[in-house]
Amino acid sequence: MAQKDPYKVLGVAKNATESEIKKAYRKLARKWHPDQNAGNKQAEEKFKDIQEAYDVLGDAGKRKAYDSGGGFGNIFGGGNPFAGGGQGGVRFDTSGFGDILGGIFGGGRARSRAERGRDLEAHVQIGFDQSISGTEVSVSVPREEQCGTCHGSGARPGSSPKTCARCEGRGMETVGQGMFSISQPCSVCGGRGTIVEDPCGTCGGGGRVQRVRRYRVKIPAGVREGARIRVAGKGEAGSNGGSSGDLFVVAHVGESPVFRRKGDNVEVSVPITVVEALRGATIEVPTLDGSKQIKVPPGTRHGTIVRLKGEGPPRAKGGGSGDIHFRIEIELPAELTKEQAEAVDDLATVMNGNPRESLLARAARN
Ligand SMILES: [Zn+2]
Ligand SMILES: [Zn+2]
Repeated sequence: MAQKDPYKVLGVAKNATESEIKKAYRKLARKWHPDQNAGNKQAEEKFKDIQEAYDVLGDAGKRKAYDSGGGFGNIFGGGNPFAGGGQGGVRFDTSGFGDILGGIFGGGRARSRAERGRDLEAHVQIGFDQSISGTEVSVSVPREEQCGTCHGSGARPGSSPKTCARCEGRGMETVGQGMFSISQPCSVCGGRGTIVEDPCGTCGGGGRVQRVRRYRVKIPAGVREGARIRVAGKGEAGSNGGSSGDLFVVAHVGESPVFRRKGDNVEVSVPITVVEALRGATIEVPTLDGSKQIKVPPGTRHGTIVRLKGEGPPRAKGGGSGDIHFRIEIELPAELTKEQAEAVDDLATVMNGNPRESLLARAARN
């Protein structure tokens, strides 16, 4: 198994935090996703490397095992925690210890317990209109599955795996002496309890293969940026009869040139003239599916919100629809024509109060 340094693959430092790793993974996975690189073999390989690297670094236990010097071998059960260090290298990794003890007291082989498959995550980009009306997207998900040729045994069809001589099929062995003696997954069979002598040509003996699955996924009407849609059972296959994980499709919503999303509602800026603000007006405004008339009352101020109830996007929870908020903005001309200037002069003679009078009076009293 020629594995690459997962830190190098994801381009993160050895001491990178969980969220840094997740971020780097998301960015790379999006860039090299098979959907973006149709027919590009190199991208497919790269994508696989990224998945494998994240499989290790994204899991605290596997990362610890990798960091503690065993490399991938240690993670996949074939390593020896004493390797290279002799007695001085003894490490009591508490998380690993729990697994080991569980293996002993559980009485079974380390690998024979049913394990649920991992959840998978896929990101999709949809347009603003699609987020309002709902849509259906096609998602390509690379996932590990049981090999169809050997049905997961890893042995070439016609042959079968042999019981491991070292652990006699228990999958565990005892290493060290006295107080340093610990049980660990068998170093010969990697904890499986069996040895594949004639490996399956399809999976190379691992019993599992990487496959890219395509799903049509319904994105419900009204989704917001970052919404996670769960597709039950479409994650990674479980092992030893465990159930499959789930697939989570994360929706990324494009921007609209008109509407801004505000929770369950949308907001839109609507310019009106000074005259409309003074006199009030009935004006035509855009809605999500056309246009409507709304009333702007006389004396409307800049920044006033006029609500159109139930005309917004479908609500994420509880049914019904949100509202459209029209944010009224009084538009002032940068320059006045001669006629406009004269009209404003006329207006000034009849609207000549000083609204700052009481303000100045209050200030003088202090
Ligand atoms: Zn063994
Ligand atoms: Zn196979």
